[in-house]
Amino acid sequence: MPELPEVEMVVRTLRPRLVGQNITAVETSGLALRRPIDLKMLKRACVGARVDAVRRIGKYWLIDLSTEHVLLGHLGMTGRLVFADADAPRAAHTHAVFRLARGDELRYVDPRRFGVLRAYAAADAAQSAELAVLGVDPLERGFTVRYFADSLAASRRDIKAFLMDQSRVAGLGNIYVCEALFRAGIAPTRRSDRVAKKAEALHAAVVTVLKESIENRGTSFSDYVDADGQSGGNQRSLWVYGREDDPCRRCAGRIKRRVQAGRSTFFCPRCQK
Ligand SMILES: [Zn+2]
Repeated sequence: MPELPEVEMVVRTLRPRLVGQNITAVETSGLALRRPIDLKMLKRACVGARVDAVRRIGKYWLIDLSTEHVLLGHLGMTGRLVFADADAPRAAHTHAVFRLARGDELRYVDPRRFGVLRAYAAADAAQSAELAVLGVDPLERGFTVRYFADSLAASRRDIKAFLMDQSRVAGLGNIYVCEALFRAGIAPTRRSDRVAKKAEALHAAVVTVLKESIENRGTSFSDYVDADGQSGGNQRSLWVYGREDDPCRRCAGRIKRRVQAGRSTFFCPRCQK
């Protein structure tokens, strides 16, 4: 499931191929993603538009258009954005197609259809149902130790649930939460207000695991590829995620897996207190 580094890689690979290009037509499969796609709104935003910028907030990618609209999306569990020649056959599960003036297409493919694809007037995007609820993106300037420590101190939830909550820190999911907690030496079940004194170490760990993954072009277990179709290499650098029963790379003890709020949590009981 794509998290911040994977979406960042999608944005970085979309940008050189999309910025300055004109969109001439939009088509959809007619099937709903997490919610139905509003084709009329997509057309209003995109047809005749030039792409001015491609950016990211949390796990959302955003495309700024010259029509003063924003196209935004979430890859859900299995979403991909791919470029293809207009006459190349469409992959199964292609749910939206943006035809580009130079002759190729940007296609949104999503087998499980948990993704999001929406267009908004630029003035309304920040207040949209998707973006209005997001906390601070950990790679943005607003993600200060102070902000993070204050948010931790105000929460009595377990630290894993706190980090997964997009309204606090926007962009982390299961992989990078497990990795950051290992790096900071914090057990995933600790209460957030009780780890507030380790806020600085955890803040640094969050930023480090994300930046390292971006350097490795993201983590690929099954579906994730960037907009050039390339898989990431960060799965080889993970300390705990997906390593149940493997030796800890720091203490040589065994990595454990525990189900927490319905999701697997990987941790080292010796290194994480
Ligand atoms: Zn260990």
